Amino acid sequence: MYYDSLIFEISNKGRVGYSLPKSEFKSYNIPKNLLRATEANLPEVSELEAVRHYTNVSTKNFGVEKGFYPLGSCTMKYNPKINQDISNMSQFSLHPYAPMKSIQGILEIYYETQRILSELSGLHTFSLNPYAGAHGELAGLMIMRKYHMDRNDTKRTKVIVPDSAHGTNPASATVAGLISVEVKSNLDGTVNIESLKELLTDEIAGIMLTNPNTAGVFEKDILEIAKLVHDIGGLLYYDGANLNPILGLARPGDMGFDIMHINLHKTFSTPHGGGGPGSGPVGVVESLVKYLPSPVIKKQGEEYIIEDSNETSIGQVSHFYGNIGVVTKAYTYLLTVGKENMANIGRYSVLNANYIKESLKDDYLLPIKGICKHEFVFDGLIDKSHHVTTLDVAKRLLDYDVHPPTVYFPLTFKESLMIEPPETESKATIDDFIEVMRTVAEEARVTPDLVKGAPYNTVVKRLDEATAARKPIVKYSDLLK
Ligand SMILES: *Cc1c(COP(=O)(O)O)cnc(C)c1O
Repeated sequence: MYYDSLIFEISNKGRVGYSLPKSEFKSYNIPKNLLRATEANLPEVSELEAVRHYTNVSTKNFGVEKGFYPLGSCTMKYNPKINQDISNMSQFSLHPYAPMKSIQGILEIYYETQRILSELSGLHTFSLNPYAGAHGELAGLMIMRKYHMDRNDTKRTKVIVPDSAHGTNPASATVAGLISVEVKSNLDGTVNIESLKELLTDEIAGIMLTNPNTAGVFEKDILEIAKLVHDIGGLLYYDGANLNPILGLARPGDMGFDIMHINLHKTFSTPHGGGGPGSGPVGVVESLVKYLPSPVIKKQGEEYIIEDSNETSIGQVSHFYGNIGVVTKAYTYLLTVGKENMANIGRYSVLNANYIKESLKDDYLLPIKGICKHEFVFDGLIDKSHHVTTLDVAKRLLDYDVHPPTVYFPLTFKESLMIEPPETESKATIDDFIEVMRTVAEEARVTPDLVKGAPYNTVVKRLDEATAARKPIVKYSDLLK
């Protein structure tokens, strides 16, 4: 139909989607040099055409609200609409320079969110200032650096990062002015203690860890690792993007971590992907509180206050308060789930992951046996005789209205297929997914070319991903060239 076209292609000269009364005002006295010489190239369509166009465009995208989205490392869970509605309330928008007395409500939300995150993580205080996970990492590493600098311990320039870490970890270390050094992982992604010991010198500022790691395995030696790193004067940074499976069950603070970030836009009710607003609160143990980025909200008697940014703080890492809307959603979510139910988030996401893992291990190669946490990795199909790759499987899943799992990450395996089914999915949905995965494995055996040619039912077929990344066509005018 015509509304499958670009909106410019359905444009008709003179067609309008509105009619306004003639303006009484003749001129706004806009200086000539600021007026455009030619008319803007805008599509001319009726209101109905515009509505149909955008409604159709919206259905061409894939999201958690359209189908199962088991993207490992990302916690793509459903976020209840009420949280969004509440954060949209006009009472929660504020002028950044509004006097503190007039914004006590939002400051209370900040204070309470800081407090609950501390309780869940076992770290003393949080700042909600960073915009994203990677931004929280950067803030955390700046704190780590400042801590050593303040002690005149200037030779600590290196941060240990496991080879299985998320790509943002070494990137954040570099941006924070530190050098990342890689520690080898065991096959299951846990830290190889012997390799770690070899790296522990007085040049080490600290270590960054994800626990459970990106292969969904809990670091059982974490207390020993913490002791080893602390003994040489280093600090431990916890990448909290994988907090979902341990919510209410285990706390990074109790494991010996000194600094961490939390992805509110993974764990606490903000959808992510597509570059939408996020929030990556950074939390620290008591001795590092003085370095936190401002604002940190405090309670003085009955009043909520922003403590004057002290000299020792790393400063502010985002504008004003950070992303208030994301914080408000997280707070609503934390209250609706409630303390007593928090641990069920972890339990159900772990149960879902193990159920899928065990159901599919006769078709897909399971390199790490045993119980996983919220996610796990297959190393492609077991039967590789037809050369059907993880990419082929991922593309074929699209034909069955399933978003593919994370592919080719972690780098530890050649054909990584990393599956994370969050707690918000029902058994029926998960059973459907298992069925689809088995069907694709069967197709790969019987009609491998069918899988290699997928997808067939999507708006665009198999993309030339290198060209799409290097020379993306993102404007209509580019298409006309
Ligand atoms: C998503 C993620 C990050 C980065 O978070 P962003 O908000 O995307 O910057 C860091 N570490 C892990 C393990 C993640 O999954």
